[in-house]
Amino acid sequence: MLPEEIPKISNKSVKDLIHFYMHLKHKQHHAIEAPSNKDEPTILIIGAGLSGLTAAKELTTHGLNVILVEARERVGGRIHSVKLPNGAYIELGAQFVHGIKNNPLYSMSEKYHLEVKPYVRSDWGIFDMEGNEINKNDLNALVSEYKDVIKSLNLTRRSDNKDRFTVEDLKELDLKLLKHKAIESGDLHSLAKMITIKELNEEKLFYYKLGLNKKESESNYVVVNGYNKLVEGLHQEAKATGRLQTFLSSEVEKINHAHEEIVVHIKGGEVIHADAAICTLPLGVLQSGSVIFEPLLSESKIKAINTLKNVVHNKVVLEFEEVFWDNYSHFVVLYDPTLEAWLDIINLQYFSELKTPVLVTSVYAGPDKKIAKDKYAINHFVNLLKRMYPDTFRPLRKSWITHWEDDPFAMGSYSYHPEGSTLDDNSAIAKPVGRLVFAGEHTNRSPSNLQAAYLSGFESAAQVVEQLLHIYQAVARK
Ligand SMILES: Cc1cc2nc3c(=O)[nH]c(=O)nc-3n(C[C@H](O)[C@H](O)[C@H](O)COP(=O)(O)OP(=O)(O)OC[C@H]3O[C@@H](n4cnc5c(N)ncnc54)[C@H](O)[C@@H]3O)c2cc1C
Repeated sequence: MLPEEIPKISNKSVKDLIHFYMHLKHKQHHAIEAPSNKDEPTILIIGAGLSGLTAAKELTTHGLNVILVEARERVGGRIHSVKLPNGAYIELGAQFVHGIKNNPLYSMSEKYHLEVKPYVRSDWGIFDMEGNEINKNDLNALVSEYKDVIKSLNLTRRSDNKDRFTVEDLKELDLKLLKHKAIESGDLHSLAKMITIKELNEEKLFYYKLGLNKKESESNYVVVNGYNKLVEGLHQEAKATGRLQTFLSSEVEKINHAHEEIVVHIKGGEVIHADAAICTLPLGVLQSGSVIFEPLLSESKIKAINTLKNVVHNKVVLEFEEVFWDNYSHFVVLYDPTLEAWLDIINLQYFSELKTPVLVTSVYAGPDKKIAKDKYAINHFVNLLKRMYPDTFRPLRKSWITHWEDDPFAMGSYSYHPEGSTLDDNSAIAKPVGRLVFAGEHTNRSPSNLQAAYLSGFESAAQVVEQLLHIYQAVARK
């Protein structure tokens, strides 16, 4: 019997693929022996971050059995919300919805009860490191200074990169005048891609650095009532089907994809068998080699994995006894020489109705640079706030500081493209290896954010069924 061709399904609907799979399976019931001798395949998903949970929800709600294995004792991965005693939330990982146009996360916010508020950029205070508030009118002087430096760099002469800035241009520009956090992080590369030399005369570059020139549809939205509602909602939906088994605190050590099934070894000795798997291990974990693939992944995949890099983006969260600062949405601090960065401190109280005396700052560093010591970093920010508000300052109640680069189940905050890498590296990492499929923010062609993680999870659900179909067809052809 000739196997039927896999239908061309334009939107890669998981439902249609599964339907076709079941139909084929039924017709070939006597011709093919199912690898694990079961009527329906079991898909193993490694990692319960947004990508893994999205895939789990898609597969289970369309009738497939899923085993979800997660090393941490919680779901969510790089979404990590902490609830404060007053009911407010702080986010130690992702906090924003980046843009609303065509962003599935924004569309999902209602369903998963996320309260999203525009990240108002006009209601901000700007300070220097001595704690002096800078009059916004004085910014004009800074802007013209910035323009002079741009002019002196004579960037328009460049012929190689058409009308785009190169990363080196931006570095030189920043070093001459105002250092930006992007220098030490991967952001500089995306910044370089976005900003054209034509825009020089419009002061856009400077305002971009202050985050002020974005259109509404591109701007950021803050999730104020716990991003965990999204991941927990997806998890609950998958569980409600009765087709999901979740194993938390289960660290995968080895993935064997050599045979007609996937065999995964968990730390402690447990072994799980499945018909196919979706691997959502973060880029940093793949790079570290802490999880063994048997057989080894192809040279081209390993090369792509090692070509991309990880931004180190951490959060310092300070909870005070009472609010003692002005009700700005956030505070910009012009160039901190210790951190070699501009600072952006978010005032949570501005966005939440709950009285939450919490300030959140993001700290970026290159892969080799860490915030020295927790205590040092906390004091650094507390002292800065003391200088900003000497008369009203109130004591610190509690603090949090993240080290995503040292977290064995993240090993970095999110991927970025260093010089020499391209989006084809993301696609090379995403390419399935037989019944082993890859997902996660780093596998998407618009990587680094939650939207990428979500889309990769969604696509991997269809991909894993498609791969199984190919395998069954190949068996039927024999
Ligand atoms: C500080 C910070 C701020 C951010 N801010 C934003 C933001 O505002 N907006 C935005 O869109 N994005 C933001 N991001 C990026 C966003 O959080 C990530 O892109 C996204 O969460 C990645 O989802 P994922 O499913 O690909 O990976 P993850 O969420 O990392 O999921 C992978 C899962 O695999 C698990 N795992 C790892 N190793 C093993 C193992 N050996 N065995 C079993 N399980 C394992 C991990 O524990 C994890 O749960 C931020 C990230 C950080 C760190």
